[in-house]
Amino acid sequence: MSLSVDNKAVIAPDQATSAKVKPAKFKNARALREPGFLKTLGIALKFFFNKPKNTQPAGSIPVMELTREQLLAAPDNTLYRLGHSTLLMKMQGVFWLTDPVFSERASPFQWMGPKRFHQAPISIAELPPLKAVILSHDHYDHLDHAAIMQLADKVEHFITPTGVGDRLIAWGIPAEKIQQLAWWQSTSIKGLENAVELVATPAQHFSGRSLGDRDQTLWASWTILNQDQRIFFSGDTGYFAGFKEIGDKYGPFDLTLIETGAYDKQWPDVHMQPEESLQAHLDLRGKYLLPIHNGTFDLALHAWHEPFDRILELARRHQVKISTPMMGEAVDMAEAQAGQAWWLEQLPSLQTNKKANQKNKQKVASLYSVVAE
Ligand SMILES: [Zn+2]
Ligand SMILES: [Zn+2]
Repeated sequence: MSLSVDNKAVIAPDQATSAKVKPAKFKNARALREPGFLKTLGIALKFFFNKPKNTQPAGSIPVMELTREQLLAAPDNTLYRLGHSTLLMKMQGVFWLTDPVFSERASPFQWMGPKRFHQAPISIAELPPLKAVILSHDHYDHLDHAAIMQLADKVEHFITPTGVGDRLIAWGIPAEKIQQLAWWQSTSIKGLENAVELVATPAQHFSGRSLGDRDQTLWASWTILNQDQRIFFSGDTGYFAGFKEIGDKYGPFDLTLIETGAYDKQWPDVHMQPEESLQAHLDLRGKYLLPIHNGTFDLALHAWHEPFDRILELARRHQVKISTPMMGEAVDMAEAQAGQAWWLEQLPSLQTNKKANQKNKQKVASLYSVVAE
């Protein structure tokens, strides 16, 4: 394991310490704009009483089911989106999984909280052994206690931001399996032949799993260096100067996995509007953009398909190559194919109006043909 600490501008001064020295509370490079009490109350009331109906799909969304045999036979550098920010990658002949969430609800309770729109394309039991699970932060839609416990025996390494690993240890995961990294620290993990380097890069977000534990564990994005291939996984983040810095240091990236979903003008600092996701991709000097953090849980007030619609249109306008795979669809990490606008099939307005549906399909096909150039 190679560790290096660099004091960078985006790191809060009292965070630039070894992973072993944990500050009482972690900080962003720039303090977040916090909504006041009344605004928070307003948001809460809207969530409970005035939520638009289209924040969830009318039916379940399509999933391409996966089997262990299929995964073992897949070529190296294949990626599968299993949902939300859960991505399964095959690199160096072994499997790597980000933010594994398999539970029905992203919540401390299984009887309330956001319920998933679709089943995972593969169960935890069916998954092949995993070289590493890579975690971005401790929110429920990224750190799923039940999934971690079920995965434990088939995972060799858990790679986490500082403090998140302590939660895993408290849950009974053996400490020797866990590596906790501060921003800009990295670790090398050997696959069948060569190693993959994982760098904990900054993000602008927050953490906590209950009312009293805000920001006691670190949040991060991850830069994944696999030989010549460079992948960026955003975790959860608002738009910030860190993208440019990460891009300067580790770019250009072959593939950026960037959050585009659960945004709102009322919490502008902790999640990105699609325009900002696109700008982040440009700052990172990414080649292909694959938007994540959408299509699985209802965590905001926008229509469930809006993140897809907006990012696709933006990608077309800015000539950015975009990949929007179905859940479970294989993606070549070196040349991420466009995928289809599968979510349009799910919209009731288009299901009942065949003509509009046809027109939309043509429009989308032309979008992708421009983008695919
Ligand atoms: Zn979060
Ligand atoms: Zn999240």
